[in-house]
Amino acid sequence: MLSAQSLDRNTAAATTALFKLARSPKGMLTLSDEQIAQAIRPAGLYNMKTRNIRKFCEQLLTDYDGVVPETRDELIKLHGIGRKCADLVAHFAFGAPHIAVDTHIRRVCQRSGLAVGKVEARVAASLDERAPDWAKPEAHFWLLNFGKRICKSRTPECARCPIAHLCNYPQKKG
Ligand code: SF4
Repeated sequence: MLSAQSLDRNTAAATTALFKLARSPKGMLTLSDEQIAQAIRPAGLYNMKTRNIRKFCEQLLTDYDGVVPETRDELIKLHGIGRKCADLVAHFAFGAPHIAVDTHIRRVCQRSGLAVGKVEARVAASLDERAPDWAKPEAHFWLLNFGKRICKSRTPECARCPIAHLCNYPQKKG
């Protein structure tokens, strides 16, 4: 929720500051909007994110007795939680076999042909179908790092790419 349109280091700073103030939905709701906004300011869009955090905590307490649900279908019903966030929580907190797709992973999949779909949710569904079970525990980090370091947005490093011979990208270089 904090990471939307924020660099990793800024998200980390905001998370650390917020969790110093409260670490549970009940605790979070004892804080004022100003306290939350000030803590998460480094992550940007802090007024919108403050509203999301408050609504999320209220809904979690009302509908789930304060306990985070385990499945994607339940998680996605919570305020401010999209498909990527639901997949991350379902996978890393509860072991579900989902591969959460962000903009880096979508780009890698679209260029290489690893998965089909134009939007992140469709790419995620395609990866869920295509990826072998043995790959699913680590695939999110593999694809994420690959997208950040090799198949980069503006300058993909095709000349040193280990899967260049398998890639469908028409503008492939090298
Ligand atoms: S060959 Fe280039 S475009 Fe294809 S996956 Fe590798 S870095 Fe990305």
